[in-house]
Amino acid sequence: MSGESMSDAMREFLAEIVTALDVPLAADDTGDRAHQRILADRVSSVSISIQGLLQDGDPVFDTRWLRKRITETPITYEPYVRRDETAMTDAEASEQLTRGDLVDTVICPTCNVAVGVRCITRASKPAREPHGRRYSALEQAAGITQHRATARREAQARGYTSNGLDHKAEASLLTAYAARRRSAQTTASGTTAR
Ligand SMILES: [Zn+2]
Repeated sequence: MSGESMSDAMREFLAEIVTALDVPLAADDTGDRAHQRILADRVSSVSISIQGLLQDGDPVFDTRWLRKRITETPITYEPYVRRDETAMTDAEASEQLTRGDLVDTVICPTCNVAVGVRCITRASKPAREPHGRRYSALEQAAGITQHRATARREAQARGYTSNGLDHKAEASLLTAYAARRRSAQTTASGTTAR
């Protein structure tokens, strides 16, 4: 690119690739398989989007497409966080709730089961895992989606020096969401008792 600068649309596309490939390691063995599956899916999406861009030369379209694919394959397991990054006390750590613990606090957009009800398959059998879109709905409810959009805008303003996900901030948002739910439930049960 001698003398030619990259377009903003192209920068945004590249930043979206960074986001797509930011699939953190899992905190434990149970998350490992989900990590492998999501990473493989994201790599494949990135490859498809690059091929698409090479064909149509439209980074805006491919950025949007890739962003949608990321939403459809959310991180469904507990990410590994280095101990010194979290700086949590043991008491805090024991209260730390995972996405898996909280996913049934939202209605599933895929199978439409109510809060507290396990996801079902099309044949109305209990699903082995909650639907991916239910995790997205949880991230929306906990403010994680909004947090990521803000982080993306800030990265854009900085010229995309870094656009990785802030796993620590996302964990705090989840904890705050769980606390809000707990206090709402306490208030609700207090009202019915009266
Ligand atoms: Zn579901």
